[in-house]
Amino acid sequence: MDQRTRDLVAAFRATYQTEPTAAVRAPGRVNLIGEHTDYNDGFCLPMAIERDVRVVLRPRSDATVRVFSLQEPGRPPVAFTLDGAIPKAVTPADRWADYVKGSAQVLGGTVALRGCDLALTGDVPLGSGLSSSAALEVATIRALLAAAGLSLDPVVIAKLAQRAENSYVGTNCGILDQLSSSCATLGQAMLMDCRSLALTPAPLPAGVAVVIADTGKRRGLVDSAYNERRAQCEAGAKALGVSHLRDATLHGLWQAAKAGRLDALALARCQHVVAENGRTQAAFACLRAGDAEALGQLMDQSHADLRDRFEVTCPELDDLVAIARSLPGCLGSRMTGAGFGGCTVSLVSLPAVAGFTASLGLKYRQLHPAMTPAIYVTGAAAGAGPLPLAP
Ligand code: ADP
Ligand code: MG
Repeated sequence: MDQRTRDLVAAFRATYQTEPTAAVRAPGRVNLIGEHTDYNDGFCLPMAIERDVRVVLRPRSDATVRVFSLQEPGRPPVAFTLDGAIPKAVTPADRWADYVKGSAQVLGGTVALRGCDLALTGDVPLGSGLSSSAALEVATIRALLAAAGLSLDPVVIAKLAQRAENSYVGTNCGILDQLSSSCATLGQAMLMDCRSLALTPAPLPAGVAVVIADTGKRRGLVDSAYNERRAQCEAGAKALGVSHLRDATLHGLWQAAKAGRLDALALARCQHVVAENGRTQAAFACLRAGDAEALGQLMDQSHADLRDRFEVTCPELDDLVAIARSLPGCLGSRMTGAGFGGCTVSLVSLPAVAGFTASLGLKYRQLHPAMTPAIYVTGAAAGAGPLPLAP
């Protein structure tokens, strides 16, 4: 047990006056390439990061669930019962627990659950685009399963977690986040086919590190802009007579535009998605070949397309990427996540990492004095699973 788990167990003990019986964890994720492709049935190339949500638990003899988070200090546990519909939070302060309640609601519709006491802690930054929400949902589902003495396939867990976020919390996310958190492999990124949900792992290239940098900008208008992009992609697929842009080609897009079935804006949006699907598959081939330089170039191209044709970047993301690219040892850099703020991901050669992170922070602050960019150097972590509770 490391210090974070020990602190969590101590808080569980202090709150519930008893010992937890089991613990689980689920990681956040970063997407190396393949952005705004998941809801187009396309390809992504994520990996789990070395930051996670942990839940310790103890089954109860009734149908009550109680839960508290170390990231919401000083609050009593949120309690709800598994009999019937679980009401959402009535105060904004309790809204974080909707991710737990939604997971319980959706899972309870599939298997017979048992009440339990839960305590959780997470070091995935909240709202940065590294999927603390998916980590929380996947960890919650694993905790509830453990309390009921049940287990489910990790892909099924991911789908249930996505449904919790879509239907209960009300965020229209694709499957990328939950599938990454639930199914990642230690030391590997994975090509994710968002249509078949097939995952094909490939190791990160030797001699490079993945560096995540947070712009510090929170995604204000993200929901409306995200939904607008989704609608544009759906309209584009319809104009081409395909179910999803996964099935479109650049040539087909041109023809539809020439025939007046796609306007210039719709064409640009769809071109990004189709090109990004190609880049993501090419990036996977680079991983297989151990070609970090070519992978970096694809990441650069992805960012340019997200900036110019898909228009989901912002000055902070563009500046952070431009600074990263100007620094020695950087092989490629791009925004990651939905955009409009959040994080960038860069591929950096190992000997240059310390200098890279120091200069990136310094130069970014010179441009944006109000922002302190959190920087995380991470390997590829394992997907969700049990956590040992032994001392
Ligand atoms: P992201 O998934 O990019 O981090 P979201 O807005 O989708 O951002 O989800 C963040 C929300 O998830 C937080 O505002 C909070 O409600 C919830 N959350 C995630 N981790 C925790 C945690 N450790 N404790 C409490 N709430 C959490
Ligand atoms: Mg999220």
